[in-house]
Amino acid sequence: MVMMPPEPPSAALRLAIDRDALKTNWRTLDALSGSASAGAAVKADAYGLGVDVAMPALRQAGCRDFYVAHWLEAQAALASAPASAIGVLHGPLNAQDAAFAVATGLRPVINSLDQARLWAEAGGRCCDLMIDTGINRLGLPMADLGNPLIAALQVDVLLSHLASADEDSLLNPLQLARWQDARRQVAHRRASLANSAGITLGDAYHGDLTRPGIALYGGVPCAGLEGTVRQVVRPEAALIQIRTLSAGDSVGYNATFTATQPMRVGVISLGYADGYLRAWSGKGMMLAGERRLSVLGRVSMDMTVIDLSAAPDLREGDWVAACYDLPRAAAATGLSQYELLTTLGRRFAR
Ligand SMILES: *Cc1c(COP(=O)(O)O)cnc(C)c1O
Repeated sequence: MVMMPPEPPSAALRLAIDRDALKTNWRTLDALSGSASAGAAVKADAYGLGVDVAMPALRQAGCRDFYVAHWLEAQAALASAPASAIGVLHGPLNAQDAAFAVATGLRPVINSLDQARLWAEAGGRCCDLMIDTGINRLGLPMADLGNPLIAALQVDVLLSHLASADEDSLLNPLQLARWQDARRQVAHRRASLANSAGITLGDAYHGDLTRPGIALYGGVPCAGLEGTVRQVVRPEAALIQIRTLSAGDSVGYNATFTATQPMRVGVISLGYADGYLRAWSGKGMMLAGERRLSVLGRVSMDMTVIDLSAAPDLREGDWVAACYDLPRAAAATGLSQYELLTTLGRRFAR
């Protein structure tokens, strides 16, 4: 007798990803980038969405340039785009990374003279070059621009990154001027400065390529993007138990919620291990259709308890969706919109 493999178990947690909203957000940011093209930052697994979901949708929308941070991320991204379309922001740390880039055709972002040397020694050709114009994080110091190692590079995109693009800061024009200076000093095919918020700073900041991340995925990093970005991501969880509390019963660790009257509550399969952090304790809101169901007490590792008073018809196995509009979620929890996305865990069916 042939044993059939069992059907896989069902998911009790899923991330609803609105691919149309993602595509629309890219097209909006591409249009706002004027004569420049918008690329996409897809590091950290496309800010938690999954590169295998986000990159094909972005490519369908017309996106042709992608940036990851790590080499292992680049390897995963290769399934969704040609190597020449993928830049690796951290650059080669050693000869092994440089050899991997040469073998695959991935584009390293060179961030220092040491990295330029590694790239030359590996026989590398086309690369990107990150100039530090004031964030003092990763990037070649302006003082090293005239070094022969830099002149020998075959630079596709000359990059820099803004520290305060989401603010009206004097750093913005200062970094712009330094980036323009670097563009005059180093031969390059294309130039890029703006992240999502940087796109709103005007044409001068656009160069040939912009690099939005957060706004593609539904984040609103600055006032200039309010009303133009669509929500993309919504966590959804199954009700795994329903119970009735009596007046005086408390809920969850440390009993931070106590019922004042009999009430029907539900346990959902979503917790802080999934990135639904304890910041949501006593504050989060789930939706069942239009009905709003409050989080009661502490969020646990794998579970959260919600008030079902407004939805008496819900049964075990039914689904609810978390309110996860990023600007509002950030205001409610004190977490950044970036953290709210990138902490979403690996247990979601995407
Ligand atoms: C993350 C990142 C971006 C995207 O920034 P957002 O603020 O998410 O738009 C662009 N460029 C670089 C170098 C980055 O590291």
